[in-house]
Amino acid sequence: MPDIYEAAIAGGGIAGLQAAIQLGRYQHNVLVVDKGFGRSTLCHSYHNILGWPDGISGSELRSIGRQQAERMGVQFVEDTVVHADKLDNGRIRLQGIQTHYEASSLLIATGILDRFPDLPGLRDCLGLSIYVCPDCDGYEIRDRRTVVLGSGAVGAAMALLLRDYTSELLLVNHEQKPIPDTWQHKLQDARIRTVHEPAVAIHSEAGMLQRIVLHNGDVLEAERGFIAFGGNAVHSDWTRGLGVERMENRHIVTDPRSKRTNVQGVWAAGDIGVHAEQVTVAMGEGALAAIWMHKYLKTGTSDARTAQLSARES
Ligand SMILES: Cc1cc2nc3c(=O)[nH]c(=O)nc-3n(C[C@H](O)[C@H](O)[C@H](O)COP(=O)(O)OP(=O)(O)OC[C@H]3O[C@@H](n4cnc5c(N)ncnc54)[C@H](O)[C@@H]3O)c2cc1C
Repeated sequence: MPDIYEAAIAGGGIAGLQAAIQLGRYQHNVLVVDKGFGRSTLCHSYHNILGWPDGISGSELRSIGRQQAERMGVQFVEDTVVHADKLDNGRIRLQGIQTHYEASSLLIATGILDRFPDLPGLRDCLGLSIYVCPDCDGYEIRDRRTVVLGSGAVGAAMALLLRDYTSELLLVNHEQKPIPDTWQHKLQDARIRTVHEPAVAIHSEAGMLQRIVLHNGDVLEAERGFIAFGGNAVHSDWTRGLGVERMENRHIVTDPRSKRTNVQGVWAAGDIGVHAEQVTVAMGEGALAAIWMHKYLKTGTSDARTAQLSARES
């Protein structure tokens, strides 16, 4: 017989940790199941978060968040959730690789993972001098010699988005997928040179990009980089047994106000949902979901309006 929790959180990244802190402060019995590897373990520095003007790494932010949640009695287990379903008694069962877990409510916060080539030296630079998100880090490449390492039209679109920040921009079409004529014209108009050649290595010093070596032996001196390959992994397949509504791209649909899914007792927050894929948004969604999970745990309804009225009356 497994321990039974009031709230289970699948995914202990940014959204999951913020929700765990909030649910812990309501004094709920909370379990976080996390496999230990996600976008927030990859990023060596976030620069756009309130209170961290010099940046903070994902692993440090996670470590602080976990300690904060543990102070409130939240429990953590390292495991990969492979399946979830609803039991006849209404509880949710999470099947991990090690064992299974049961809870009255569930937050899905398993995020996504960027697709990029396994190039020597690339991971050392992620978040420090090579970025993935123009909304987060476009600012970091101002007037810097920058290389966009990408695939076909996805790389082209990224280069065009970044053109306002620097004129020293080069696109490396690493996978040599076709770039449609319309995009090629736009690249030419923006005076962005394109090289159709795979990269083989990234050289850096303390995470700061110095040069990119191409397969043909050319060496590109660069100060900053962006990667743009598309086809990111969306970690929602394990939710199929719950019948949670997903979009065509496998992101999970939620009510914008409460972050609840179409399934009673199940919420979703962070990159797994449909949003801007940023830390502060993931935090906000994690907090929102936790607030409504609390109302559900107290009132037994996940209908936002009824739960709010019941909570006010109780
Ligand atoms: C290189 C890089 C740079 C970035 N830079 C910025 C930036 O500067 N600013 C910014 O705002 N955002 C940035 N981001 C995006 C930011 O990291 C994400 O928006 C944020 O991490 C989303 O939080 P999340 O909780 O949804 O997902 P994550 O933080 O990825 O957490 C998901 C968690 O789910 C767990 N998990 C996945 N599947 C399972 C499973 N089946 N069972 C158990 N656990 C599972 C993983 O272990 C992981 O811990 C960057 C991302 C990357 C990759």
